[in-house]
Amino acid sequence: MSGLQPVRGTHDLLPEDSRRHRFVEETAFDVAKRYGYGEIVTPIFEFTEVFSRTLGETSDVVTKEMYTFADRSGDSITLRPEGTAGVARAFISGGLTQSLPLKVMYRGPMFRHERPQKGRLRQFHQVGCELLGVDGPQADIEVISMAWRILAALGLSDKVQLEINTLGDAESRAAYRAALIAYLEPLRLSLSEESQARLQKNPLRVLDSKDEEDKRVVANAPLMGDSLTPAAKDFFDQVTAGLTALGIPFVVNPKLVRGLDYYCHTAFEFTTTALGAQGTVLAGGRYDGLIGQMGGPATPGIGWAAGIERLSMLVQDLPQLDRPISIIPMGDTLPALVLADRLRAAGLSVDMGFSGNMKKRMARANKANARFAVILGEDELARGAVTLRDLDAGTQEEIPLDQVEGRLTGA
Ligand code: ATP
Ligand code: MG
Repeated sequence: MSGLQPVRGTHDLLPEDSRRHRFVEETAFDVAKRYGYGEIVTPIFEFTEVFSRTLGETSDVVTKEMYTFADRSGDSITLRPEGTAGVARAFISGGLTQSLPLKVMYRGPMFRHERPQKGRLRQFHQVGCELLGVDGPQADIEVISMAWRILAALGLSDKVQLEINTLGDAESRAAYRAALIAYLEPLRLSLSEESQARLQKNPLRVLDSKDEEDKRVVANAPLMGDSLTPAAKDFFDQVTAGLTALGIPFVVNPKLVRGLDYYCHTAFEFTTTALGAQGTVLAGGRYDGLIGQMGGPATPGIGWAAGIERLSMLVQDLPQLDRPISIIPMGDTLPALVLADRLRAAGLSVDMGFSGNMKKRMARANKANARFAVILGEDELARGAVTLRDLDAGTQEEIPLDQVEGRLTGA
């Protein structure tokens, strides 16, 4: 144990951070409810194969980033690095194949052993959605528009940019793969070791490399768009036409590929320039092959996931907290506790300090953005009265203790 430090790449969410996280999550869930999404909660760990067999043996996540361990029964377990594979597993093992289309949202921690930096953690949090069972481009349009609406509800419309591309159907990808290998093979020695290893297995992955030399090599690589079958091109045209019809601004980024193996057709990312290198806040795509590949019935799917830490950093204004009533006992605290209890039971937020002079307590009330202060002075209490101070108007009056609740609840 290395002292009482948090594990590298993990962090504590203190109340103010949690409030931001919750705001992002709740906003996403509120919007998604209007699209008919319910919540799915899957375990944060799964058998390792759930991820290793689906994310792709050459993906960064599988080759370098998974938290994998043998549990006490000797089973190989992995802390989930992402949400889609677990949802697909739940769909198959839960026998949900009759309930299509299925629309689900998830939220929670994800785990990846990567190099921690701003906006890149080892335990981070995502909120995401999956729509299973719809193979037409209308699903892609709806899922992207829901993401756009969520970002708008977070106040981020002006800060994010939608980039979109198509990875085509199987036939397009096979043709593209061949074109890419033909281009990259003569340049093999200029590539990073990692990209050299991926060249034959999964050349698309080379396009996603973060290595500077690799980026130079792929700058002139052929584009997916040139290898599309007419059907794949038509699918993509329908998606972009739909986004245009919905008034969602986007740019086609012909180099956009997704890090995981199970994607086809639409791939998209919402990016920002406000967070430095970690600019992708929400990313997703279509994964028609995934469930079949896992051993389930062939079922199309599309979804996205957003990084809550990254979105939290972008969100400016949180909704105001309920303004509390400050209760200030100057003598005996018991009458104050009784009053606070009654007001809280009536649904009000009550802030009560237990010590300090009047000035300190008023400062505390102001800091809490209290609407009223109720001051319980000893002489007044002896008469069965308290002072009610309106902190907005700056006025105060003495009222009977037993009328405080009625006054403050408006009853
Ligand atoms: P990146 O290119 O930044 O590594 P990725 O392609 O690995 O992203 P996805 O698997 O698509 O990311 O995850 C969706 C979103 O989750 C990302 O866009 C990002 O906002 C967030 N995310 C991914 N990895 C991390 C991490 N290590 N720390 C914080 N947020 C993350
Ligand atoms: Mg990554």
